[in-house]
Amino acid sequence: MSAKLIKGSEIREQILAEIKKEVEDIKAKYGKVPGLVTILVGENPASISYVTLKVQTAHSLGFHEVQDSQPVDLSEEALLALIDKYNKDESINGILVQLPLPKHINEKKVLTAIDPDKDVDGFHPVNVGRLMIGGSEVKFPPCTPAGIQELIVRSGTVTKGAEVVVVGRSNIVGKPIAVMMMQKAKGADSTVTVVHTGTKDLAGHCKRADILIVAAGVPGLVKPEWIKPGACVIDVGVNRVGEKVSEKTGKPVPILRGDVDFDAAKEIAGSITPVPGGVGPMTITMLMANTLKSLKFKLGIPV
Ligand code: NAD
Repeated sequence: MSAKLIKGSEIREQILAEIKKEVEDIKAKYGKVPGLVTILVGENPASISYVTLKVQTAHSLGFHEVQDSQPVDLSEEALLALIDKYNKDESINGILVQLPLPKHINEKKVLTAIDPDKDVDGFHPVNVGRLMIGGSEVKFPPCTPAGIQELIVRSGTVTKGAEVVVVGRSNIVGKPIAVMMMQKAKGADSTVTVVHTGTKDLAGHCKRADILIVAAGVPGLVKPEWIKPGACVIDVGVNRVGEKVSEKTGKPVPILRGDVDFDAAKEIAGSITPVPGGVGPMTITMLMANTLKSLKFKLGIPV
């Protein structure tokens, strides 16, 4: 058997088209568009390319986008003042501070200074609490877990009553996706187990999973014999295992591998995400979805 591929790169395009259409409709009716500011401190090349991608995506959707680039020696006080300015700016619905920040700035202090109602990354403790409560309390689910849930739902996987096993307990992936899948909600209502470095029988738990979500950061951790035949496998891992020369550009590019032994797993799973092209493309997409949601909350439009 060869599993159905869950292609994040295609699902992303569907979601972006839906967002674009909604932005046009809201603009026509209310004269407003979602506003997103991306604050970048310093010149870390990886951060610059992430920010560029976010800004380009926001622009392509008709958002009001502001890229605020600041020097690496910006003081913590000045960054907090900048956040305060955007917290008060009526044209801005989402504030994103690109991480990592320079060492002299306290990341936690900065992230908690963002107005929770503009925290489209969903990392503010208020939004973490809202996610835990669930239902209509949830404003901004964190982007990678939200993308994982979209992949599961849009691939037609049944979640109600499904055994979901999450490998990894990080604050940005493992914990939030576990909470989201256990809620009594559409695309959830599952029975969730979280496994991690303290788990005794990793393979035994994985073998029970109807939906296996792997976010460990260990290339090839999940072996094909750990997968229940027909299961939906979501591989969040992005691991650089080497370098190759790009056929297109002739420049060196990283070789990426997931946390699942993909070639063998696809013969057993019912559906599976590739790496790259699976979960990866969903994170920025859901950032855009959260920014649109933020405007809708403000305008009183049901989400
Ligand atoms: P993390 O290092 O913060 O957490 C990894 C978790 O996996 C830990 O909770 C740990 O207990 C568990 N773990 C590690 N090794 C294990 C093992 N051998 N057995 C059982 N559990 C083990 O990582 P993270 O930030 O959650 O990211 C995980 C992976 O997902 C990374 O490869 C990262 O690059 C990738 N990632 C991708 C996206 C995306 O595609 N958009 C976003 C976030 C993270």
